[in-house]
Order: sequence, then structure tokens, then C-alpha cells
Amino acid sequence: MAAAASLSVPAGKLYVAVSGSSISLLRHDSSSSSFVATAGSCHVCPGCCVPPFSSDVDACRPCTIALPGMDAFQGLRSCKRYPKLAGSPPLGGARSVSSFAEQMKSVTLRGASTSRPSRGVVSCEAGMKIVFVSAEVGPWSKTGGLGDVLAGLPPALVARGHRVMTVAPRYDQYRDAWDTSVTADVVVGGRTETVRFFHCHKRGVDRVFVDHPLFLARVWGKTGGKIYGETTGEDYPDNQLRFSLFNQAAIEAVRLLDFKHSSSSSSSSSSSSNSPSPFQGPYGDDVIFVANDWHSALVPCYLKSIYKPRGQFVNAKVAFCVHNVLYQGRFAATDFDLLNLGEELRPSFGFLDGYEKPVVGPKINWMKAGFEEADVLLTVSPNYAKELVSGEDKGMELNHVVQRRGIVGIVNGMDVQEWDPASDKYLEVNYDASNVLEVKPGLKELLQAEVGLPVLPHVPLFAFIGRLEEQKGSDVLCAALPKLMQEENALQMVVLGTGKKRFESELRALEKRYPERFRAVCKFNAPLAHLLTAGADFMVIPSRFEPCGLIQLHAMR
Ligand code: ADP
Repeated sequence: MAAAASLSVPAGKLYVAVSGSSISLLRHDSSSSSFVATAGSCHVCPGCCVPPFSSDVDACRPCTIALPGMDAFQGLRSCKRYPKLAGSPPLGGARSVSSFAEQMKSVTLRGASTSRPSRGVVSCEAGMKIVFVSAEVGPWSKTGGLGDVLAGLPPALVARGHRVMTVAPRYDQYRDAWDTSVTADVVVGGRTETVRFFHCHKRGVDRVFVDHPLFLARVWGKTGGKIYGETTGEDYPDNQLRFSLFNQAAIEAVRLLDFKHSSSSSSSSSSSSNSPSPFQGPYGDDVIFVANDWHSALVPCYLKSIYKPRGQFVNAKVAFCVHNVLYQGRFAATDFDLLNLGEELRPSFGFLDGYEKPVVGPKINWMKAGFEEADVLLTVSPNYAKELVSGEDKGMELNHVVQRRGIVGIVNGMDVQEWDPASDKYLEVNYDASNVLEVKPGLKELLQAEVGLPVLPHVPLFAFIGRLEEQKGSDVLCAALPKLMQEENALQMVVLGTGKKRFESELRALEKRYPERFRAVCKFNAPLAHLLTAGADFMVIPSRFEPCGLIQLHAMR
């Protein structure tokens, strides 16, 4: 504990202290006029800092640190390169505020708001309790950008002082998530089903996984299309039951789980803490749910139909975020009766379309219900927000609903820790601006060898990463590739993607025809995606539309 000296600060608030290469989280204790280091660890680099929260980041492996009060992860890009103040000791707990404040005078925080109360001390308005509900959460489950966002955004919000939970199905026996022993009964299709909650605490985020045979026994794997159906583009016939169960379970998780984040455990608490947290106990009712895409669109509906009438979650709000309006969850109208929802909700689902699957004519549409019932609608870029209301073509017949409700576009971020070439765990050699010209050619050679192409440093290497579907321009790519592969074009290309079988077999046939120049890797392979992004000379993105698109963000980084 250290004397608060003459700094005038409100009591009880959390402060992030930054000094040279050190960062710590302090709470002001008015009774002793002191700053006390809170228990916790670096939110952003799990396992690299030990409690208390303060850490000498030079001692950590290279990491990226986000600071509350800053606009983005621009503050300390890489601990390795961030200059340490001469003579500044690491923050080994609470330290003298006067010496701390003095040091702050010589530290410039790039991007920090100039209106902050005192220079160098960034007030952390620890406030919102945010619960993301999503069918995917990277790295545990991911088929595309949704998994990426659920991996990277929650820790970024934690770093801004919020308490954040994600809830996703448990598709596999995740090594790092533990059984909380907490169960809940939910009603789907007229039957009561019991779900069980698994949990871990990583990078400051409570990661909750809903366990039920409809997920684990069906999918049994972390990635790939099997999350939604046996083959790409085909829903499991009981997806309305699977995700109805999941949405109710997600709300129950918030209601029932009591997080201890300590070594003690009890039958009703979760103590699977991989990184200590300053937050303890249950989340309570006053949370903000962020529901993502059609698979979690029923969260506002269950809150309205079941919980609020019981006096639960009365002040809870729901933001519904659409990542891709192409996938809406359209089912037979009679399936509404399977969803355990009150009649008053039926009109929100009502939808008429001309598609033949699964039935022609009146249907229910989960995404429409999410749009109708959420408190606020969000999407993944300002441009996509415009496209969604531009007409039936891009709004996919929900444009009128979105137009009426209004929508806010916030461009996706990326996980700058995962996609940092200076620390990327998938790269044999890391690089940054200072050594990119030496390292990148080596990574290109590694990549060529890895996929079995001739190692030719001077031949330009093109890469495509993504779902093999029309949206991503896979048909355009397949049509263009034979022309590109002509002898006179000295180039190589690697396609990494899974999706429609038609495209997979066309690409495999091309590989047979041009073994010296072309590789089709029709798998989901995260390490290869990183190596391609780092080692290729060009990324090819022939998409017809991209709500945001993370591939190009990763490539630019
Ligand atoms: P979308 O969400 O429309 O699929 P994005 O570009 O927003 O597209 O995000 C795609 C994400 O999925 C990226 O992180 C990309 O690296 C990853 N990805 C896509 N296909 C594969 C694959 N076959 N193997 C590994 N990663 C993949």
C-alpha cells in the first residue's frame, strides 16, 4: 500500500497505471489515502503475468497491451520494443503514487484522451456487465469471422474496464474448460432438457460453454462446418431445437453461475480460473446481452416471454449484432410451437418467402425476430449497415425491418495479439517493420515447402483463405484459375478453404493439373492460415460482398 500523496482522485475507482514498460491496476482506498494493487493479471496476455495485476512486461513474452481509455490497441504495440523508462523499477504491487505520478509526466500515451482526469492515470470506468451469446467463440469454435470477433473483442472490452462473459455451445472436450457442476433445465420441443455449464477464465473473460449432447455428440470437434450441419449450407434438421436450447441455456448461465476465480470451489460456483480477475460473484440481472446472428436471436424473445414477466432481468438490454444477413434461420411456420415462447412473440417471427427449403410459403425467421425484439441493432461495419437497408438484394428481404428499427455499424476489430507477426505463435520466426525484409522471404520458402510447392523465392505467391462459397467469389476464382495458371505466368497459388463440395473438387482437379503451381488445401487449418498470411506475397479476395471481412485486416497487419 502506498501513500496517495497529493493526487485528488475519487475513492474506490480502478486505475490503470502505466509507467515505461510496466502496467498495473490500482484501486484508490480513501480510508488510507492509498493506492492498492488489485489482484489480477494482464488481461491481454494470459499466463504471461503473475498476480498481483502489475507486471514488468519486459519480463513477459512479447505481448500487446490494451489500456482502458484508449481508442484502440495502439498504446504499447509490443512490450519488447516499448522503451523502458531509465531507472524505473517494475511495478511489483502498489507503489508510491508520487514517484509513479512523476514518472507519468514523461510518459506519452498515444491515443489516450486528453480530457482524462490526471495525466498518466487512466480512469477505468468499470461499469458494464456484458454477456456475448454466440454459436462460435474462437479459438474453441470457429468457422469464420464470428469466431474471431468473439475471441478478440471480449478481452478488449475487459481491458476497458467492463466485466465480460461469453456463452457458446461446448462442441468438444475442451482441455481448458472445467465442469462447474451447475446445471439448468430448459424446455424445447415440449421436452425438458438438462444442460451443464463448463467454464474457464482467460484474458479477463469468463468463457462459459453449454454442454448438451445436441452439441458435443453431434459435432465433436472445434472447427469446420459441422457446427451447423453435416455439409456446408445445410442446416441440421433440428437446428431450431439446438439453438433454442442454447439461447435459453445462455440466459440461465447468467442467472445461475457464481464465479469465484479462486482455488476454493463449491458445487454452485465456478473456480476454473486460468487468470485471476478483479471481479467476483454472480453477474446479476443488470447485464447487457450481445446476441450474434440468427443462432442467438432468441435471447431477447426469451427475456421478454419468460424472464421479465417473472421479475428477472427487468433492466437487462439486448444488442443484436448481425455478422451476415445471408444466414437467417428460416424454418417452417409450425416450428414456432417448438420454441417455448408465448403467442405474443409469433408476429415477430412471421415471414413470407419464396424459397423452397424447408417449405414454400409462410415461415418463421429467427433473425427477423432478433431484429424486432432487441433493444439495439448492430452490424460489423458502417458500410454493411448501409447495405442492409439498401434493398432486398443486399438486405436479403429483411431490409425493411432493419430500416424501421435502425442499425449501427461498428467496424470489426481483429485480435491484435493473435495476428501480430512480431509475436505470432504459429510462425517459426517472428518479424516486425525492422526485419520484415529479411524474415518474410524465409517464411515464404517455409510456406512453399509446407504445402509441397517448388521453393522458388522469386515466383510471386498468391493466397486465398476463406469459405468456399459464392459469397467469397469461389466460383469466380475457379473460373479464373486455369487462365492464371498458363505457362507464361510464372506464379504460384495456394487456396485454403472448406465449403461447397463442388468448389473443393474443382480446386483439387486444378491441383492435379498444375502440381508445380497450385495447391488446394480443403481443410480448416489455423496454423496454415497464419503462415499464408505472413508468407504469401498477395492475398486474393474475390468476394461478392463482405460485411466486414477479417482476412484483409489480418493481411494488412
Ligand atoms: P467470414 O466471417 O465471412 O467467413 P472473414 O474474412 O470475416 O470471413 O473471417 C474468416 C476467418 O476465418 C479468418 O480468421 C480466416 O483466417 C478464417 N478461416 C477461413 N477459412 C479458414 C480455413 N480453411 N482454415 C483456417 N482459417 C480459416
